[in-house]
Amino acid sequence: VCPTAALTEINHTHKVWEALSDPDKHVVVQVAPAIRVALGELFGMEPGTIVTGKLATALKRMGFDAVFDTDFAADLTIMEEASELIHRIENGGKLPMLTSCCPAWVKFIEHQFPELLDVPSTCKSPHIMLGTITKTYYAKKMGLDPNKIVVVSVMPCIAKKAEAARPELTKDHTNNVDIVVTTREFATMLKEAGIDFKNLPDSDFDHPLGESTGASVIFGTTGGVIEAAIRTAYEWLTGEELKNVEFNQLRGMAGIREGTVKIKDMDIKIGIANGLGNARKLLEDIRDGKSTYHAIEIMACPGGCIGGGGQPYHHGNEEVVKKRQQAIYQEDRSKTLRKSHENPEILKLYEEYLGKPYGEKSHELLHTHYEARERI
Ligand code: SF4
Repeated sequence: VCPTAALTEINHTHKVWEALSDPDKHVVVQVAPAIRVALGELFGMEPGTIVTGKLATALKRMGFDAVFDTDFAADLTIMEEASELIHRIENGGKLPMLTSCCPAWVKFIEHQFPELLDVPSTCKSPHIMLGTITKTYYAKKMGLDPNKIVVVSVMPCIAKKAEAARPELTKDHTNNVDIVVTTREFATMLKEAGIDFKNLPDSDFDHPLGESTGASVIFGTTGGVIEAAIRTAYEWLTGEELKNVEFNQLRGMAGIREGTVKIKDMDIKIGIANGLGNARKLLEDIRDGKSTYHAIEIMACPGGCIGGGGQPYHHGNEEVVKKRQQAIYQEDRSKTLRKSHENPEILKLYEEYLGKPYGEKSHELLHTHYEARERI
């Protein structure tokens, strides 16, 4: 994971072209929240230009059979993660609960703090959840053979390539996600395809895995995952409407931040770290019994996924990352629905297939486990 380009990714674009040229395959693509505020930079646009609609159009023109949105699965992650947090709080479970959607930080805790493997949420990361739901629910709904579905993830992240290859993230010997390409690799593919990205018209993602709320968009920035979880946990715990969904005390770019959110008679203490050096400090406090947080969000990259190792290089220019962050919050504000549990396609997924959040089927499909690995 390297936003400064000291390390670069293994290129997997040829695998995507091979899948797209195989008439026997049904090729599904998904794009992460952070891509839509950064990809334009590789086509001469200003940092923070929102290109969501152009992205959907470009993917359709490239020939993907279905163009889905990882934001949908970010909403799904919140259904599970907020449920898990409430379950732990109400049942004396392990606290703090740590978010688990950043594979670089998950690998870090497995190597560096193997005694703390019961603190991260067991939720799979959003793109892995979407891969699972594509090869189960979507395959069934569309009458498709899951073995003939290829799931491609366009991610801001190099670590997601290794994550997709983790043995425990497979189901029935079918990878949940088959190919991961980064934002930079994807831009190369658009150029190879001769697509004039800057001048594309807008279009929408496909359904049933393309609807999303503002809560899912903010996954792209540091603090966003935990803010999205709090939006949902608040309404579930109080039964009251959360009128102001923007938790400014959780926002910003500082490497370690904290905030307290009052929910009913509880003060929920939140910690946030971005960058693994900062994560280490919060993890040492947990190990030493000094942590007082209920929940912690950790992202390996400074700024979160907007500053990810697969994004257009920013060479340490924090202003670029800040513009991407402002665009993320702008995209959130533009959404009619801003809480994950209001996403109608998510509600339908539970009604038709999963049952209830954090239930038996969800545990089977959407949760994972972690393993102690050799200290390095
Ligand atoms: Fe990947 Fe960085 Fe985002 Fe973690 S913070 S998921 S390493 S891009």
